[in-house]
Amino acid sequence: MKNLKFAYILPAIALFASCSKDNPNELEEIDNAELTEIAVNEENIELASPDAGRVAEVYFAGQKLPVEEFNGEYVYQGDILLPPDMVSKEEVKVVFEKDETPSTNKSVGRTSGRWPNNTVYYAIDGNLSDQNRVHDAIRHWESNTNLKFVQRTSQSNYIYFVSGSGCSSYVGMIGGKQNITLSSSCSTGNTIHEIGHAVGLWHEQSRVDRGNFITINYDNIQSGREHNFHTYSQQGMDGKEYTSSLDFGSLMMYGSYSFSSNGKPTMVKKDGSTFNVQRTGLSTGDKTGINNMYPYSGGSSTTEPVYVNGQSYVIYGITVLRHNDAWYYYHRVYGWREVVTRSGYWYYK
Ligand SMILES: [Zn+2]
Repeated sequence: MKNLKFAYILPAIALFASCSKDNPNELEEIDNAELTEIAVNEENIELASPDAGRVAEVYFAGQKLPVEEFNGEYVYQGDILLPPDMVSKEEVKVVFEKDETPSTNKSVGRTSGRWPNNTVYYAIDGNLSDQNRVHDAIRHWESNTNLKFVQRTSQSNYIYFVSGSGCSSYVGMIGGKQNITLSSSCSTGNTIHEIGHAVGLWHEQSRVDRGNFITINYDNIQSGREHNFHTYSQQGMDGKEYTSSLDFGSLMMYGSYSFSSNGKPTMVKKDGSTFNVQRTGLSTGDKTGINNMYPYSGGSSTTEPVYVNGQSYVIYGITVLRHNDAWYYYHRVYGWREVVTRSGYWYYK
């Protein structure tokens, strides 16, 4: 429900976020003992690479996004990979005029896909070190949610656990083989987090309603890393929430000092207090959210999605808003316009 008002004021949110840089930072200096504790705690957050990549701007899901680029891969929010066939350096037309023929050289496939029948297929690269991390993480998911993980035989959509320079994953089932990378420093907890992305979870601090729970101190964020603190709406993503409030204990939440440039907190609770990174296991809130996304099916197959008025969804690669049982797309020049789908493409009505 919260989604409704945010969906309608999408451009206003971006404006508000840039203004919030002016928030006074009145937190006192922290001593060295605290800094050591912070350093240890912050080692728990996931990064696709320990080095900062080149910051580039790309178009994804009809929105311009700042990302870090590593060897041609686009990494968003530290450890989220964007599917290369959906990313473009030039602005891509995502909605066409009524009589226009879409160019077919650009995929606008779905994002944030759910795994059908609550079943996630996977394979593990033979060279991946400490494969017990993967087995333990999978066992944790199976014992706490309605998801099943099945070793892939010939299925075309599956997660491939492979070693890499850090911990990273795509969000949701993207179709085909999708990597979860794990360097030797990624723990079982980090692996549970990356699987969380692969089954459709974004970072908890990206919730559209996070302003009710936390204050972002933009002045303390490492330069070029501000995009780690964008909300779903600012990312051009589906802003649907599966739980009613931000969960500080979530396995998908960063800590107060994540991406700090100066040892001061980048995020604090509304009362000014700080919070730690939790990477032990899924929180009660995580389990509630996941079970809303993947309800117990009793073995039956998944049904057609039900679209709720006032909610936004990512369909065929763009974020669209359901309103009066029709679809609307926000264009930065035209504003809201009604759109319809035909053969996997969006058209203005
Ligand atoms: Zn992550």
